Amino acid sequence: METVLRIAIQKNGRLSEKTLELLKNCGIDFTTSGAILKVKASNFPLEILFLRDDDIPGYVSKGVADIGVCGENVVDEKGYKTELVHRLGFAKCRLSIAIPKRFDYPGTEYLEGKTIATSYPVILGKYLKEKGVNAEVREISGSVEIAPAIDLADAVCDIVSTGSTLLANGLKEVEAFYKSEALLISTPQLAGEKKAILDQLMFRIKACQRAKRAKYIVLNAPNNKVQEIADILPGIKSPTVTPLAQEGWSSMSSVIDENDFWDICEKLHEKGAEGVLVMPIEKMIY
Ligand code: ATP
Ligand code: MG
Repeated sequence: METVLRIAIQKNGRLSEKTLELLKNCGIDFTTSGAILKVKASNFPLEILFLRDDDIPGYVSKGVADIGVCGENVVDEKGYKTELVHRLGFAKCRLSIAIPKRFDYPGTEYLEGKTIATSYPVILGKYLKEKGVNAEVREISGSVEIAPAIDLADAVCDIVSTGSTLLANGLKEVEAFYKSEALLISTPQLAGEKKAILDQLMFRIKACQRAKRAKYIVLNAPNNKVQEIADILPGIKSPTVTPLAQEGWSSMSSVIDENDFWDICEKLHEKGAEGVLVMPIEKMIY
């Protein structure tokens, strides 16, 4: 029987779209529909389980699923034994402590003796211990922001991405103490054929992630400027230089990082580069 790798992903939520996009960019085909909770890819030895994110670390830890995509916050909070395979770089958010706007906040000493409502008692507990603060942690499973308004707590600790939910509930963020992103995790000691399939998947994921930040750049340069322009363009190895039909000119191409993009373009312009084209890259294999 063919060995398949089982991946657990979030059925419906903030991780779903990006996770599906990741698998699709890796060339893995499968059909999804709301009712289907388990599906086999048609062109890769992968079976996909659609679950609530809370259940993913536990299932991966027990080997019900071999690997999974889950927020770091949930992985740390649940505390199951799993292995980190790769940081996926999406679903970035932070865990923050917030208090009602009307109070001044001098520092963590403010929290001494207070009650803090949260869905993340483990992560918050660790932080408070580290800071030497004695506070009562009250676990609430959802709508944590409402707790101070209904006298359930003095402060809250919750996921924040923009802070607008806090503001809407009359709260202000006073400590952003934990950062999270989506993680690819695996069951401890995945081996044999399953490990080989994971390696194959990781090869594709890395190629997609590299490509995301990279741009392919093509330009025309006067021959006497080729060296100076080559020094600006980093490239994977070095830029490709091809003579143009027009005497005294060359075409140069290279790969640049998105972060350096505007900086490099300005310098190229100064050096006399013309006809600069910049294109997205789909995959990048080293
Ligand atoms: P489920 O129904 O699967 O239990 P959920 O409601 O618990 O879903 P979501 O709100 O879909 O969870 O969030 C999933 C994960 O996405 C969170 O655990 C966190 O890692 C990340 N996340 C949460 N909120 C944001 C946000 N505002 N921006 C970016 N990432 C976020
Ligand atoms: Mg959940």
